[in-house]
Amino acid sequence: MLSQIIQSQNKRAVYIHIPFCEHICYYCDFNKVYLEGQPVDEYVDLLVREMELKTAQDRVNHQKETVQSIYIGGGTPSVLTLGQFERLFKGIYDCFNLQPDGEFTIEMNPNNVSQEVLALFKTYGVNRLSVGVQSFDDDLLKRIGRTHSKSVAIDAFHQIERAGFDNVSMDLIFRLPHQSIEQYQASLDTALSIDLPHYSVYSLILERKTVFYNLMRLGKLPLPSEDTEVEMFARTMQQMEANGRHHYEISNYGKPGYESQHNLAYWNRVDYYGFGAGAHGLINNVRYQNLGPIQHYLNPLRNHELPILEQNELTSRQQMEEFFFLGLRKMEGVNFQTFEQQFNQSVASIYQETIDHLKHIELIESTAQGIKLSPQGVYLGNDVFQAFLLED
Ligand code: SF4
Repeated sequence: MLSQIIQSQNKRAVYIHIPFCEHICYYCDFNKVYLEGQPVDEYVDLLVREMELKTAQDRVNHQKETVQSIYIGGGTPSVLTLGQFERLFKGIYDCFNLQPDGEFTIEMNPNNVSQEVLALFKTYGVNRLSVGVQSFDDDLLKRIGRTHSKSVAIDAFHQIERAGFDNVSMDLIFRLPHQSIEQYQASLDTALSIDLPHYSVYSLILERKTVFYNLMRLGKLPLPSEDTEVEMFARTMQQMEANGRHHYEISNYGKPGYESQHNLAYWNRVDYYGFGAGAHGLINNVRYQNLGPIQHYLNPLRNHELPILEQNELTSRQQMEEFFFLGLRKMEGVNFQTFEQQFNQSVASIYQETIDHLKHIELIESTAQGIKLSPQGVYLGNDVFQAFLLED
């Protein structure tokens, strides 16, 4: 249902990347840099220039494009000053209209929440906030390199509520080093007691070039066992559902009507612009990526050129792979009729063997419209997604 709504809207989404952070978390492999000493004013100015250059290429009859969602992520977008935010918002609205029921999200660090910034967000039509909490255990927060505390996080949500935001999401992470099931349960309980309409809950992934990855290689990262991780995930799913937050994507839970429109656009392969250092986009079946390091990103823009690192037109085979790879992340699964409309081929003609095999080992199951992950498949999502990669 959700995917049908999004596909019928068929408007593009906009992602904007702010790569600055006041501290670097030990598990993070996003494109980010220490804030101190960075040319943030120039970055914001040239980010706006990037939007202008890109949209000038696509503009039909000089009309501004209307988009379904705008998402400012990072990094830590909330480190921008009020003046920098204002400059950015004006730049966004010079290039795009947000459709009347569109979603405008900003990621926030609990440390940066203030009445002033929330009031500014309201003025410029921001209607959804995503707050990176990760844990409510002060000790654990320090161990993962976060600088906020449980009380700061709770206070941030009170301020957000007072400012009149109702569409609010919280990020949590489980399988943290030294984390016991009881500790995780305490964080989950606190998270649910704050009573938000949406939660994103991830298992810690060890990415190369992070502090945690290096510690793991040195044998100095005491992670919970696999059984503990499974138990943490199982409790999350069970307790979110029991509290009315529907499990609609592997890591996402929301009250009906509060599912992230922007993220659904990714999983439904709706076109989206990616602006900012290292950002990715998908426009007319071309996936592109911007240059990542700040100066590399800024240099072409200083000369009024787009900062593209690479762009590739997807073959229809790659599009089919993505259809399953991304679409099966949604708990409702994928719709075979949509596939057939998009590719003029039946699912069976391409994937019958794969689907039979995955059903046989009980990682997927049939729905009225197609297939979805089975309850076991939810734990082994990556194995399922990889099975849809087509051999050359
Ligand atoms: S997790 Fe977020 S706040 Fe921490 S370093 Fe990464 S981008 Fe910055």
